[in-house]
Amino acid sequence: MKNILIVEDSKVVSGAIKNLIEKEFNFHCVICESKKESAQILLKYKGKFDVALLDLGLPDAPNGEIVDFITKFNIPTIILTGSTLSEDEVKFRNKNIVDYVIKDGSYSFVYAVSVIKRIINNSKIKVLIVDDSNVFIEKIKKLILRYKLIAYTASSSEEALKVLKLNPDIKLILTYYYMPNINGLELTRKIRKKYTKDELGIIVLSSNDDKKASTNVLKYGANDFLDKKFSNDEFFARISANLEILELFEDANNKANRDFLTAMYNRRYLFQTGVEKYNKAKNNNIDFAIVIIDIDKFKNINDTYGHDIGDIAIKEVAKILNKHFNDYDNLIARLGGEEFCILISKKTNDEVKEILEKVRKDFEINVIEVKDLKIKYTVSIGCSFNFGVNMDDMIQSADNSLFVAKDNGRNQIRYRD
Ligand code: GH3
Ligand code: MG
Ligand code: MG
Repeated sequence: MKNILIVEDSKVVSGAIKNLIEKEFNFHCVICESKKESAQILLKYKGKFDVALLDLGLPDAPNGEIVDFITKFNIPTIILTGSTLSEDEVKFRNKNIVDYVIKDGSYSFVYAVSVIKRIINNSKIKVLIVDDSNVFIEKIKKLILRYKLIAYTASSSEEALKVLKLNPDIKLILTYYYMPNINGLELTRKIRKKYTKDELGIIVLSSNDDKKASTNVLKYGANDFLDKKFSNDEFFARISANLEILELFEDANNKANRDFLTAMYNRRYLFQTGVEKYNKAKNNNIDFAIVIIDIDKFKNINDTYGHDIGDIAIKEVAKILNKHFNDYDNLIARLGGEEFCILISKKTNDEVKEILEKVRKDFEINVIEVKDLKIKYTVSIGCSFNFGVNMDDMIQSADNSLFVAKDNGRNQIRYRD
């Protein structure tokens, strides 16, 4: 559970924000009305807050004294300010805060909540900073960490490509344009041969005066351009905007490629991406297997307990398969109904057989407890190690083996070598 600290003496403001947060997320909000109270709360929670929202004008801290006090605990901080920004308040923008919100109506609270969501999501996102200047890397790294993102660094494009290879789940790259050997533009071009714009974001930094650089990087596949003389405010806003777009792409891809009930890959994705895995294995002599798993007598579960419980039984298949095959070299997809297909790469036939026997047993002993019911079922499994002429052919031979397993009494595995 995430903890959000709100220090604000106006009950209207703190209440509105708390309501918005708790309506949308499963976060726990703690409200304090003064600096003194926040000190006690911090002690009680041992400083374990994921985000803090701080009012600059508190009765016992009228000039934003609360900011230094809270940021010492390394809590990402958003400040709440009155409608007009004074000199002093502007000063706070460059302090250890990630954003500020001007309290001028309900939209500003919605914005504050979106920043909180951003910070919470950031803790899973990896960012790679590329620059040959160590000073600049450190400056950006500090901001990236303040935003609770995970930071990787590289002091050249060559090193960046290596880091990316080791960490293919890096989501965003911030690279300087002017670097010796491979510059930021060339780096972008190289990365775009492997990663599309919606898989991996690239922001290139240079000087705004260099119009050619800013135009070129966008033409050659960067997601955005940022002037190296950015303000912290602009920096966080750009990072947020780019991450939000990447997440929208991810959502859209998930909707197209994943099955709604189980969140596993769907049939369409299996036939699209599976072929690449199949061809790669076949052409490079890599161990490869295709497995089809089907619940035994599933109709009985639907007929006895209803469709909703049937759905729970199907989700359980996804859970058990994820436990055994959650690995980059495998692809699990729901073929339809209570039938799943798994492509397994880089495992010998004996290794596959050993895993499948564990899977079969897992289903056999598994009990799903729901609404005082105890539901049990077994599965039948068909597996093919024979590439055949194409992937459809190999799936068909796994399906034939499944048929034999069903025909022989179910709760068993049949193979086609
Ligand atoms: P067998 O051991 O031969 O596999 O028997 P079975 O009863 O499992 O046979 P069959 O594959 O014909 O039954 C599949 C049933 O799954 C039929 C269909 O109504 C049901 N079904 C398909 N999709 C869903 C779903 O998303 N949710 C639920 N609850 N049922 C589904
Ligand atoms: Mg079945
Ligand atoms: Mg079936």
